[in-house]
Amino acid sequence: MPMSPSFAARFEPIARDVTEHFGTPFHLYDERGIEETCAAFNDAFVDTDYREFFAVKALPNPAVLGIVARHGFGFDASSPAELAAAAAAGATGADICFTSNNTPEDELVAALDVGALVTIDDEAVLDRLLGLGAPPKRLAFRLHPSAADGTVPTGMLGDTESAKFGIPADRLVPAVTAALAHGVEDVGLHLMRGSQLMHAEPFSRTLDTLLDLAVRLRDRTGVAVSSVNLGGGIGIPYRPAETPFDLKGFGATITARLRRWERDAGQRRPRLHLESGRAVTGPHGILVTKVINRMRKARTMIGVDAGMSALMRPALYGAYHHLTVLGGQSRATELVDVVGSLCENNDKLAVQRELPRTDVGDLVIVHDTGAHGWSMGFTYNGRLRPQELLLHADGSVSRIRRAETVADQQATLRFPASVLPSRRNRSTVRHP
Ligand SMILES: *Cc1c(COP(=O)(O)O)cnc(C)c1O
Repeated sequence: MPMSPSFAARFEPIARDVTEHFGTPFHLYDERGIEETCAAFNDAFVDTDYREFFAVKALPNPAVLGIVARHGFGFDASSPAELAAAAAAGATGADICFTSNNTPEDELVAALDVGALVTIDDEAVLDRLLGLGAPPKRLAFRLHPSAADGTVPTGMLGDTESAKFGIPADRLVPAVTAALAHGVEDVGLHLMRGSQLMHAEPFSRTLDTLLDLAVRLRDRTGVAVSSVNLGGGIGIPYRPAETPFDLKGFGATITARLRRWERDAGQRRPRLHLESGRAVTGPHGILVTKVINRMRKARTMIGVDAGMSALMRPALYGAYHHLTVLGGQSRATELVDVVGSLCENNDKLAVQRELPRTDVGDLVIVHDTGAHGWSMGFTYNGRLRPQELLLHADGSVSRIRRAETVADQQATLRFPASVLPSRRNRSTVRHP
């Protein structure tokens, strides 16, 4: 959702001061907005046993993770670096879900070591985990995204044929049986079917599928499923005219379904887990970038000091991010491409966008960068990932990550000497 009126009213008056103090470009996150959204999530599910595990990959900055942790959220991590980010925000053990795929053994060990609830993505990973000996008492099992009705609602997770995630539904019982035989006692189910979903319907179907599977598991193995995780995927309106996802209605629908199941199945309803990323922080972040060049080609190109290395979504998915020009409301508009400095022609934050006429020095605000923004950044072409700032609830602003430097990029070129001698020399040494 492009910047809320409250966020804009608190940021715009200080925008010039902030850019003079910290320089551009930067991602800036709105603490108050994030807090309101956390409260809205907790409110929507107040009538059921529920916990949100914020998807660390959406915004892996411990300062922001700390905000959501204050609201009772745990974390969904999928790599050792994300486990470290969660730990830096104070999370331990049951505060963390580890939902990874094609999981390397050392990462499995790292997740088990911190006591995270590990989500098994495939029997191959389960075998590996069981092979380590002393499996955890609790495990979750992720289903293939097509498990609900044979389809995958958005392309981001692939389609029925190409999706690489999860265990097909017809293989769940044998997988769980194997885990139980090795001493696992507590089983959760996980199914994420899409991303940027704007309606509750796909989630309701996901829940129905998991609840049916819970009955099947109880009948076939005797285990009572303790949690159902619907994954992430709640969408946000990137365009001003779009209707936001109805979180309250979603909560009511899901709660009613869980209650009905509890009655029908004669069994305590499982705890509800969600792993939302985008919906929690997405609307509460902006990328602020300065116009550095106006250029005439076949089109007018507005050159800014940030590009796809700071925000990949437009180049990667053709995604729309709303753009505004600070103080530009009353200016005449023009049709422009907004471009970064990478040697890639898709390095554009907007293509053929009607924007107020800008000059060098103007500030362009890119909206909805609070999730999958900085975290998807990269360093191709030697581009440096930008700093991150936090607008605190009291109106102060602090730097929560500095900008990358050339020295950071060159740090991996400095290491202790390590040489494997040529084979000829090695055999000379060993057999003189
Ligand atoms: C990316 C991801 C999420 C978060 O998705 P959003 O669309 O940001 O809510 C949650 N769980 C898993 C396993 C993911 O891969």
